[in-house]
Amino acid sequence: MKHPIEPIIDLFGFLDESPTMFHATEAIVRRLEAGGFERLGEGDEWTLKSGKGYFVVRNDSAVIAFRVGRKNPWQSGFMMAGAHTDSPLLKIKPEAESMGKNVVRVATEIYGGPIVSTWLDRNLAVAGRVMVKGKGGWEARTVDTERAVAIVPNLAIHMNREVNKGFEYNPQNHLQAVLCADAKGGDGWQVLKGLVAEAIDVPVTAVGEMDLYLYDPQPAVRFGRDDELYSSGRIDNLASCHAILAAFLDAKPGDATAVALFYDNEEIGSRTPMGADSGFTATVLERIVMAHDAGREEFHRALAKSFLVSCDAAHALHPNFPEKHDPAYAPLMNGGPVIKVSAGFKYATTAVTAERFRELCRRAGVPCQKIANRSDVPSGSTIGPMTTALLSVPGVDVGVPMWAMHSVRETAGTRDHLSIISALKELYR
Ligand code: ZN
Repeated sequence: MKHPIEPIIDLFGFLDESPTMFHATEAIVRRLEAGGFERLGEGDEWTLKSGKGYFVVRNDSAVIAFRVGRKNPWQSGFMMAGAHTDSPLLKIKPEAESMGKNVVRVATEIYGGPIVSTWLDRNLAVAGRVMVKGKGGWEARTVDTERAVAIVPNLAIHMNREVNKGFEYNPQNHLQAVLCADAKGGDGWQVLKGLVAEAIDVPVTAVGEMDLYLYDPQPAVRFGRDDELYSSGRIDNLASCHAILAAFLDAKPGDATAVALFYDNEEIGSRTPMGADSGFTATVLERIVMAHDAGREEFHRALAKSFLVSCDAAHALHPNFPEKHDPAYAPLMNGGPVIKVSAGFKYATTAVTAERFRELCRRAGVPCQKIANRSDVPSGSTIGPMTTALLSVPGVDVGVPMWAMHSVRETAGTRDHLSIISALKELYR
């Protein structure tokens, strides 16, 4: 390694301990609490102190953290960076189990837009959130089998000779996961409940409703001559969550109130109470203003002085598919953070906000690149446009370049991760 290793080791820990949005949220909360941040309940009265840090959690899967500025928000605004905690996954339909001969399976439903074929023939673990009955009643708990317990087997090429010309997997029929080849332990529902009970060490009878997902438990791995590349599941968008959190925790209290946004459900359109297309952010920001003994006038003045950096993965120039990129806007791996632009405002970026982000990169001494889709290919989108529109604040969409976005295994550059942390540190400075 020819560059600092600690943030990358910490990133790998974060990726490995966050198989689902619930675990990512727990990992974020653990780091915030270790940094002295105090948890606030949305149903409680808020008393905030200047310079102190707080956070709010919704649905165990989204977090808004903030450090109260030395000046009032309507004097200095909110300096915000946001990302999403969720990634494409196969969600288990726990009760839709099926048994064929001696094989026990669970049905799955696709969450988000995974490259489906990459999920087959993987040793998959099960993780998510379950309701557990304890002495005080039902409580939500995260669960992770950690070990591989399932597989979605492919069909042999001898039975599908055309498979390498492209094959459309039918989610109802072809993506059921095999749990065991031994029907003695009961049906898939019972087997799954048994695995969950074992993983969290409670009796099977204490396990209630479950939000469970399959994931690839293979840890993040570095490679390349100088370890300049890494591959892992969920780099989109846990790497952005990690970069924001690292910069946010490192920052000292400043004049502006620093805000870190970690939304759920970006992969399915963000229109949930814990997604970016909700009232979550506005509610929290307004309550910060109200805790300063101020009202809506001051809230709107605060928004007028605010700024958002929305961080999500970008497509690096693919060496094997160069024709897929606009050659003038094809970011290079380890070429630095990428500013995303789109005429249709699929990204929040304008010339004004792009220059503002370039200035952060200049101050951090890191390179900066730009991406725009080919003009004949529609662009993706992310949390930037909806968050800036809902709040009426200017913003920029940025991210680190990567290959194979939404594959079960994605690849990105270690130097880019260090660069975006440095740029975000300048935002919060
Ligand atoms: Zn994303």
